[in-house]
Amino acid sequence: MTDPQPKAGETILRLNDIRKVYGDHVALGGVSLDVKRGEVVAIIGPSGSGKSTLLRCVNQLEVPDSGTLEVLGSNIDFAGRVSSADLLALRRKVGMVFQSFNLFPHMNVLRNVSFPQERVLGRSREEADKVSRDLLERVGLASKMENFPQKCSGGQQQRVAIARALALEPQIMLFDEPTSALDPELGLEVLAVMRRLADQGMTMVVVTHEIHFAAEVADRLIVMADGAIIEEGVPSELLAAPKTARAKQFLSAITDR
Ligand code: ADP
Repeated sequence: MTDPQPKAGETILRLNDIRKVYGDHVALGGVSLDVKRGEVVAIIGPSGSGKSTLLRCVNQLEVPDSGTLEVLGSNIDFAGRVSSADLLALRRKVGMVFQSFNLFPHMNVLRNVSFPQERVLGRSREEADKVSRDLLERVGLASKMENFPQKCSGGQQQRVAIARALALEPQIMLFDEPTSALDPELGLEVLAVMRRLADQGMTMVVVTHEIHFAAEVADRLIVMADGAIIEEGVPSELLAAPKTARAKQFLSAITDR
C-alpha cells in the first residue's frame, strides 16, 4: 500500500456548509466537517440520512448545491461556477470504494487495477502492472491476478476495488459501506485490509454499519440523521454515552440485533 504518512494533524479535507437537495428533499442540509491527515473518520446513521451523499459530494460524483470543499489546500465554492479542471484535480486526490465493488467484468483482476492507472495517470502497461502486482499482493490476492471478477468471492472483489483505488495514489480514501454486500466472514477480510491501511496512516472516511470496526479503528465517530451531523466524538465515548435521543435510538437499534 502507500507509504506511511505522518499523523501531522494538518486539516486536509474541509467541508463547509455543504448543501444538496434532490427536488424538495434536503439530502444534506449544510454539513461541515474537517478531517486531518492520517485521521480515520467513521460515519454511521440511519438509512437515508445522507451518509452516501456526503461521500459522493466529496469526490464529486454529486455536485453540491452550495458550500465549499477544500481538499489539500485547493478550495471549491459550489455557489459559483466550478471548472471541470478543478473537479478533475480534486477527484485525483480522493479514492472511493463502493458497496457494490464496481469492477470491470470483462477485465481480469490485474487489468482492473492497471487500466485506470494507464487512463488517469498515463502509466505504461508495464509500469501499471508492476504497481498492480505489488498492491494485489498486499491485499492478499497474488494468486488471483488472472481471474475475472465473477470468479472471485465478494470479499476478493472488494479487495481488488481497494487495490484499484490505491493504485491511483489518492491522499484520502472514502469507503461507502464496503462490507454491507458481503457475508460476515468475507467482510472480515476487507476490514483487515482497511485496518492495515489505517495503521499505515491513510486518511479515511468510512460510512459503515460495522460498529466494532468503528470503535477499534476510527479516531472519530460521526452520527448523521436527516441530512445533518447530529453527534461526533471519540468512538468509545460516543458509543458508551450518546448525547442525543436520535443517536441513542439508532445505536440501540444496531447494537440490540
Ligand atoms: P444514506 O447513505 O444515509 O442511506 P443517502 O445519502 O443515500 O443516504 O440518501 C439521502 C437521501 O437523499 C435519501 O432520502 C435518498 O432517497 C435521497 N437521494 C439520494 N440520492 C438521490 C438521487 N440521486 N435522487 C433523488 N434522491 C436521492
